[in-house]
Amino acid sequence: MKFSKLFIPTTKETPNDATLPSHQFLLRAGFINTSGSGLYNYLPLGKIVLDKIRNVVKEELDNSGAQEVQLSFVTPIEFWENSGRASKMGLEMLRIKDRKNNGFVLSPTNEEAMVELVKNRVTSYKDLPINLYQINTKFRDEARPRFGLMRGREFLMKDGYSFHANSEDMKREFHLMEETYKKIFARLGLDFRIVDADSGAIGGTGSKEFHVLANSGEDTIVVCDSCNYGANIEAAKRVPRQIEEKKSLTSGKIHTPNTKTIEEVSNFLEINRSQTIKAVIKKAVYEECEKVAVFFVRGDDELEETKACNSINALELADISEEEINSAGLVAGYVGIKDLPANVIFKIDSELRDENDMVCGANEEHYHLAGVDVCCLSEDVYFDLVAVSEGDICECCGGKLSYTKGIEVGHIFQLGDKYSKALGANFLDNNGKSKSFEMGTYGIGVSRLVAAVIEQSHDDRGCVWTKETTPFFVDIIISNGKNEDEMAAGTRIYEDLRSAGVEVIMDDRVKERFGFKMSDFELIGFPYAVVIGKKLSEGLVELVCRRTGEKEDIPLENIVEVLKNK
Ligand code: ATP
Ligand code: MG
Repeated sequence: MKFSKLFIPTTKETPNDATLPSHQFLLRAGFINTSGSGLYNYLPLGKIVLDKIRNVVKEELDNSGAQEVQLSFVTPIEFWENSGRASKMGLEMLRIKDRKNNGFVLSPTNEEAMVELVKNRVTSYKDLPINLYQINTKFRDEARPRFGLMRGREFLMKDGYSFHANSEDMKREFHLMEETYKKIFARLGLDFRIVDADSGAIGGTGSKEFHVLANSGEDTIVVCDSCNYGANIEAAKRVPRQIEEKKSLTSGKIHTPNTKTIEEVSNFLEINRSQTIKAVIKKAVYEECEKVAVFFVRGDDELEETKACNSINALELADISEEEINSAGLVAGYVGIKDLPANVIFKIDSELRDENDMVCGANEEHYHLAGVDVCCLSEDVYFDLVAVSEGDICECCGGKLSYTKGIEVGHIFQLGDKYSKALGANFLDNNGKSKSFEMGTYGIGVSRLVAAVIEQSHDDRGCVWTKETTPFFVDIIISNGKNEDEMAAGTRIYEDLRSAGVEVIMDDRVKERFGFKMSDFELIGFPYAVVIGKKLSEGLVELVCRRTGEKEDIPLENIVEVLKNK
């Protein structure tokens, strides 16, 4: 490809709203442009990268035995009503009406549509297992579309769904997908980590996320310094904390004026924060109503909101005002585990079970209770609610846990029969009995990967593409486009590289100066440049490595061989 013919509108200006390097560089280097909030156009270079990633995903999935299909992007709202998700999906799911007033949605995901596709077509255990996937547009009306391709509203996802006669076979496929995903992300040249993930309201045991490790990642990942354990903080576990020595206090109500925070109470009573119980109050949002929920954790722990939300099966947790707290019969700043109003839901962190001699609010202004024993409560109030902190101990090996940041690029899920049951998708088992399919579901953020590669691989001058993702492997830079010898030598190398199967672009622009071409090379981020310049008269060209910046003079006749071996 000739640079002069390719539509690559590079620019020096950094758009205001672009804070992440991938967002800035992809716009500046002419890979994408913005067509609306969370909406992007792919220009030629961007389209090449997107297709390359797509192809790696497709090749590895096809090798694993999965089959590619393509579902309609617009799906009837009935699918979502039948599964019960129409009301759960909230505003992220964009709903539309056709001219006959029929309801549709722009697919945010396709569990329902895929079950509908298989239903009554796959009817016997003999037809199982089957794994169908698509690489298709999704639309989610994200509350905060940001970071460019990282969190768009319209984006490209690979979503796969497998159907099985029993859960053992579903688990086998889940492991196969885990292995397949490893191959995909390794081929893309990414440094990634597989972590335990939150399974949300869907439940089930096996949900894993694949995270590209990058400082800009939106997710906090908990990792162990001495074993392979890794988990999204939403699902991370630890060995229960060792508690510092407690001070013995007389049981009963104590006057603790103006001590609304854990800090204030523990200072006032001269006790460790770990001897106190913290109440975190939230508004729990359900399909049909809202309730006030209180979560109790140890004073020196933080509440993990996803865990808290799961513990009460809410759609989401929202902030609550002091007025709302008061009208629920609670006294903000003094909420404790005893005598809570009946209309308030509450959960207690499991690590507080059977704990004694604690301090918590007395549900009365300016008063706390001392010598509180956490006992005699029903089993279902206890739940793992805490956010694991750095320095906590790993459950698997006793090592130290710490945080790192990740970009979620894949999520695999043991789904069970939730959707097949709700949508009446059955097959006949080997005894002739009708059963719902066991399902797995597997997602990859294909367009998010374009950004993730760059988050992990860039410098202050621009992108540094990996071998599998780069739009072209080599950029032949003709220093002076008017120099016929340079152009002739460049063209010869260009043709030879093409015949050797190397993906090559030639910067043959006549008007642009060498410095400009070089900074475009750095901004766009091809792995290598071959500079045809002054030393051509000595029979030499310069090979530049984008990643290391290393430059090396290579005899003209060897350059194709050298590049073929890179
Ligand atoms: P997130 O927590 O980042 O919102 P999710 O849990 O909603 O992701 P899934 O429903 O599991 O995502 O979707 C599968 C994959 O699609 C994700 O792992 C992610 O890589 C990608 N993805 C999800 N939302 C977006 C988005 N708004 N823009 C780009 N890619 C996305
Ligand atoms: Mg999401």
